[in-house]
Amino acid sequence: MILYLHDIGPHEADDLGANANNKVDIETVASFIRKHSANNEILLTADDGYTSTINLLPLLEKENIPLIVFVTTGFVEGRVYPYEAEFCDALVAGLVKDVDFDSIHRQLRGASKKHRERVMNEMAKAGRYRRDTQRKRSFLSWAMLRKLNDHPLISIGSHTDAHLDLKRQSPLTIFSELRRSKKLLEEKIGGKITHISYPYGSSDRLVRTAARLCGYLYGYGTETGENGSRMNQRRISLKNKL
Ligand SMILES: [Zn+2]
Repeated sequence: MILYLHDIGPHEADDLGANANNKVDIETVASFIRKHSANNEILLTADDGYTSTINLLPLLEKENIPLIVFVTTGFVEGRVYPYEAEFCDALVAGLVKDVDFDSIHRQLRGASKKHRERVMNEMAKAGRYRRDTQRKRSFLSWAMLRKLNDHPLISIGSHTDAHLDLKRQSPLTIFSELRRSKKLLEEKIGGKITHISYPYGSSDRLVRTAARLCGYLYGYGTETGENGSRMNQRRISLKNKL
């Protein structure tokens, strides 16, 4: 049974949209594992590379559960920021009003990095805020990732470079997203990176073939993946099951 989660933390009253959906508290993770580990071999995966992933360590060690941390390399280096989180922070701060999060999210999810940046800049201009001031989420640094990689229960995988919906990108972008993150992770952390988690769990035959050609051996989807499919393994969202 492969589980996946994103950010670890308490549910906050003013959490909105995707932020709320992406958070799960550690007690919830622990109780799910306790309930299911007797009859299942469990693999835990954490997408995006939030610093809060570190909070899983005591639980992993206690239950002897392996974890793959799927890293979006653009987040580590601050070159790319998850617009969902940025947008939510602006909403919570009251800087963006009367905008439907879901429709913006749907529109931007498949957009190119350039288009996404343009929309976010326009929104910041209209709301009169500096985009930098909204960057509250913190991501694992290279040093932290190297330390995690040394842990016997933890391995590092790629979650691409810019967190784009690969299914909706050009072949050129697909290859560069897959290659750039793999190369960076191997340079900065060492060893071979052979696991990829597709952003939004979104892949098709072209994306999976490209991933194989780039040297990945295992691909991970979300609930939409297929049991037993090496390049599109089905994962269960921890939160959805509770
Ligand atoms: Zn993600």
